[in-house]
Amino acid sequence: MNKKFLHSPFQTVSARDWRDWRWQFQNRITSMAGLAGILGKQMPRTEKLRPVLSSYPMAITPYYLSLIQEGDENDPLTIQCIPDIREISVLPNCSEDPLNEDRYMPAPKLIHRYPDRALAIVTKTCATYCRHCNRKRFWKTPETSPLKSRLAKMVRYVADSPEIREVILSGGDPLIYDDEKLEMILAAFAAIPHVEILRIGSRMPAVLPMRITKDLCRMLKRYRPLWFNTQFNHPSEITSNAARACNMLQEAGIPVSNQSVLLKGVNDSSAVMERLLYGLQKISVRPYYLFHCEPVKGCGHFRTDRSTGLAMIETLRGRCSGLSLPQYVADLPGEAGKVPLLALSETMKKNFDKHQDFFDFF
Ligand code: SF4
Repeated sequence: MNKKFLHSPFQTVSARDWRDWRWQFQNRITSMAGLAGILGKQMPRTEKLRPVLSSYPMAITPYYLSLIQEGDENDPLTIQCIPDIREISVLPNCSEDPLNEDRYMPAPKLIHRYPDRALAIVTKTCATYCRHCNRKRFWKTPETSPLKSRLAKMVRYVADSPEIREVILSGGDPLIYDDEKLEMILAAFAAIPHVEILRIGSRMPAVLPMRITKDLCRMLKRYRPLWFNTQFNHPSEITSNAARACNMLQEAGIPVSNQSVLLKGVNDSSAVMERLLYGLQKISVRPYYLFHCEPVKGCGHFRTDRSTGLAMIETLRGRCSGLSLPQYVADLPGEAGKVPLLALSETMKKNFDKHQDFFDFF
């Protein structure tokens, strides 16, 4: 038993329950009283945070909570999962849906921003609510219709759109569904002849790695080519449990990539980012994107300026191999999409000038 839980309601949990994703999910910490029962004196002042919860709910798996550093309000994992009063500050330029996703939904909760792919928000629920989430606008409103009828409308649109060759299951976290429901979703999209690729976006390897079971992998294997994108933001999230989860997916023939978000106080230093990237490389997870934090209402305190990200990437480029370097991008509204953020340092400019002959022949 993790010492954090010695005085908590979890003190008697068996190792078997702890490893069971359903137990973890059912025992998520969703109230300030529940959090206080575990963190005790280390708890941020409850009364201050109540209004935050009424705007943006909280849910933390016992597993993820067990990873935080007690007594350190600046712990990068604490910052990602425990509500912060700054979430309800009104900041200029921040809006609920800065990417205008809601305008690109030809069917309920199906986003079609790019010609060749569509993103299906199959649930609004997550195992742990990340305080920096760019879809936190969904958390408060429950689903209004059953999964089957929502899915039917999405599938109909994709079936009528031959240009869509890839469907991304997203949310929320699609892996909150049990294997049977998840298979129903995958099978429905896989049955459309022009859908060639399926992708799952899930933070489970970082926040609830027990969700990646042998049965799940056996089922997912049937829907290859299937790509899996996850989100590790800090090296402390790369635990042996997380490594095992990613390894199981890889052994099932499912490539796992990572999309981090650049977050103030979490990973906005080149030393932390380097440990994260090397840690991912060691578990064979490809660092894919580093997203500049979007101007989302409730997330403003996580945002860094662009120059911080550019300076960090420049430092890392000098130190890390290309295989471990993600592309630093800003996701912009509408069709503008993901724009690479690049800076030409003085050294890079000099090198371009020095090797002009590499470029001038065409
Ligand atoms: S898991 Fe993804 S969708 Fe869910 S809260 Fe975290 S970032 Fe948002």
